[in-house]
Amino acid sequence: MLSLPAFATGLPARVLLLALAYAVSGHLALMLAIPPGFASAIFPPVGIALAAVLIWGYPMLAGVFLGSTLLNLSIGFSGFEHLSLKGLLIAMGIALGTSVQSLIGAWLIRRFVGFPTPLDTERSIFLLLMLGGPLACLISASAGVGVLYAGQAISGAQVSFSWWTWWVGDCIGVLIATPLMFILFAEPRALWRSRATSVGLPLLVSCAIMVLIFIRAGTAEQDNLRLRTHEQAKMMAATLKFRFELYNRALQSIERLFAASQQVSRDEFATFVGRLPIAYPGILALSWNARVSADQRSAYESEMAAAGFADFQIRQRDSLGALLPAEQRGSYVPVTFIEPFASNAPAVGYDVASDPTRRAALERARDNATAAMTAPIGLVQDDRQQPGVLLFYPLYRSHQPPAELVERRRQLRGYAVAVIRTDQLVDFALGNYPRQDFHLRLSDISEPDPMPLYGQDLAALPAYAQPLVWQEDWDQGGRRLRIEIAPSEAFLLEQRSLQSWAVLAGGLVLCSLLGGLLLTITGRAEQVRRQVEQRTLELSAILEHAAEGILIFDQQGLIERANPASADLFGYRIEELAGQPIGRLIPALHGCSAATLQAQLGRAREVSGSHACNQQLELEISLGSYELPGRRLYICMLHDIGERKRVERLKSEFIATVSHELRTPLTSIKGSLGLLGAGAVGELPPQVHDLVRIAQSNSERLVCLVNDILDVEKLEFGQAGINLSCTDLRPLLHEALAHNLGYADAFQVRLQLDDSALPAQVMVEVDTLRLQQVLSNLIANAVKFSEPQQQVDISAAIVDASVRIQVRDHGPGIPDEFRPRIFQKFAQADASDSRRRGGTGLGLSICKTLVERMHGQIGYSSVVDQGSTFYFSLPLSHA
Ligand code: ADP
Repeated sequence: MLSLPAFATGLPARVLLLALAYAVSGHLALMLAIPPGFASAIFPPVGIALAAVLIWGYPMLAGVFLGSTLLNLSIGFSGFEHLSLKGLLIAMGIALGTSVQSLIGAWLIRRFVGFPTPLDTERSIFLLLMLGGPLACLISASAGVGVLYAGQAISGAQVSFSWWTWWVGDCIGVLIATPLMFILFAEPRALWRSRATSVGLPLLVSCAIMVLIFIRAGTAEQDNLRLRTHEQAKMMAATLKFRFELYNRALQSIERLFAASQQVSRDEFATFVGRLPIAYPGILALSWNARVSADQRSAYESEMAAAGFADFQIRQRDSLGALLPAEQRGSYVPVTFIEPFASNAPAVGYDVASDPTRRAALERARDNATAAMTAPIGLVQDDRQQPGVLLFYPLYRSHQPPAELVERRRQLRGYAVAVIRTDQLVDFALGNYPRQDFHLRLSDISEPDPMPLYGQDLAALPAYAQPLVWQEDWDQGGRRLRIEIAPSEAFLLEQRSLQSWAVLAGGLVLCSLLGGLLLTITGRAEQVRRQVEQRTLELSAILEHAAEGILIFDQQGLIERANPASADLFGYRIEELAGQPIGRLIPALHGCSAATLQAQLGRAREVSGSHACNQQLELEISLGSYELPGRRLYICMLHDIGERKRVERLKSEFIATVSHELRTPLTSIKGSLGLLGAGAVGELPPQVHDLVRIAQSNSERLVCLVNDILDVEKLEFGQAGINLSCTDLRPLLHEALAHNLGYADAFQVRLQLDDSALPAQVMVEVDTLRLQQVLSNLIANAVKFSEPQQQVDISAAIVDASVRIQVRDHGPGIPDEFRPRIFQKFAQADASDSRRRGGTGLGLSICKTLVERMHGQIGYSSVVDQGSTFYFSLPLSHA
């Protein structure tokens, strides 16, 4: 188990650690969010939270709440950068949603899957991931988005998108982080630890690859966006520069007017410039400012007074902005004509050179013989003090700018002046651009402190938008201007492509499927392992405690495993048996080929075995086999039948002795009774005769029985010699018919032999006497079980390489329940048969043994109430 440091095992420490893990992993996840917004394709903290609540219990919910609150406070949802009550409420609202989600997710899992769980069945894996993932995650997404909307942190239009990405992120977080947490901390430890390499590693690696791909795709997307916004910004900047140039031209045209005519009247000026403010929006006024030297001042003032400006004086402003008569100076640049006149009349006579800002521009214009612009100034024409500039264009008496600076200063006649509101100029210049998409700032940066000319505060742009800002500096009328253009949030929202998000989300869903699959596979493997373990234990227990000996040996006949019973049986220790050739213990299995072994499978067979101290063992063995990859093993079950055999031998010897001893007196009793019955001692009274007959028939049955018993014993213990010789079958069949005709007559049964299917000669290797015994037995049975007047058919036919002889009757047939026992000794379907029809129940058993000794097979078919057919086949002899 990944052991936490000792201090981390207490409940409060665990809660704090969880909160920390939640906040940190949340932060990392949000780095993957696509701006603007908080849509991360994977949000693992919820998976960590769910697992923690499952593993360490519901008190962990405190850690979830704390971690989530911290995380949400630290990211500060739009507009709540600073800790505020509203921000805190929003953070806590979201945290509450997450906690409830973890609670319900954990409860559902405990209820329907159970916990701790080895997660080793498809059902449990599927249920756990579905309940904790897609189902429970509905809660946090709904609560979180609801709280953000209520707190006006997102607009109504953003709700559905936010909900969807939130839910997807949470689901993927659970699908991936929960199994990883289980691997680290859950019980049963052995299983989960073993999944570290088989599930955890592949899952982590595949997720990491997905995230890398996403980051690359995200960067490419961001680059693309920057390229597009910069392209647009460049065009906007160029348009603006061009606009400024146009305004210079307009001013130049006024200069040219004055250059062209010696005397321009106020009316002419008004007519010339009248339309210009309309064509050049932002121009508040256009004026002609004559240069008046100190000695020309009074003449100029009287001239202006004569032109209708009563009390005309060249004026300047004091520090409070009030207009006062101009101080004595070397020269003045008073406003002489100004249009539109009505709104600008008070400016007439104002010496623009009296103000240092304006004077600096005037001097620059004069000395450079170009248009010059002032630093930004608050415009007197506007109540709202919008930033504006004055543009000056110099006019020289020589009509062309003199080459020498001294001459320029001497010959200066005046200035064409434009008063420009930069905001109107900019708005008009960029009127054709989608302005709502961009934040724009124009400032004069000629001095260390930039002075604003236009625009909103770009500092308000969110961090992610900073790299998208376009900035360009240029000289305009002797001032250095800077334009900065940045995409607006609305524009970014609109441009936001979900492609990379979808790629990541899709990829991570695949990863979690992979995780689920790996869990399933490892779960299955674990199940199999457990089953194998259990089966092995069971089998070992069976082997260990079986009363029968069991030996397992391989194809080479080497013993692989032996159980204690087999070790006892052969007088070895178990360890000694392993590796020994099976042939040493059971000579019959020595050097057996696979085919021989295969042929013996499933059949019990009696063999002898050799004990450690060279004693002979009598065993019954049966073989089984099973296949392992690349080899086959055999199981030999051993049953010690030494004792049984000894008892059987005793029994048969006893029976044989008894029967033998019985036979001689019985024969003489039977002979005497026969003589009695035949009237050898004279006619017997009828009652005596009957008694003698009964006694005689019973003594006959007894002789039969004794003979049969002796037969069986002889056959079983091999004393009965069977002398096989090659004989033609047909005469034997006729002989059998002849022998049994009398018997059949006694039962009024007809006997019929059909040998028409046989070829001329049918050679078989048989013991003729024994074959007669078999045939007589079958015929006698058939006759016995026939009703008077019925017929018994004997027939023979060649089937394959053998001849098949059958005896068919129309008697009662063999009852089903008796069939399995029919060839056993002393077996009779109906015990009363022995009295009714005679017989000992030994006949068929003897027949079977005899037929088999003659290498044939015996069988029967029978339908109850319709008759039976007993048959046996003998191999054809080709001698
Ligand atoms: P048994 O000396 O009693 O005839 P068998 O071994 O010959 O002993 O037969 C065993 C039993 O099989 C009979 O008692 C009888 O129940 C049944 N059986 C044998 N042959 C026939 C037959 N042809 N029809 C019906 N039952 C038969």
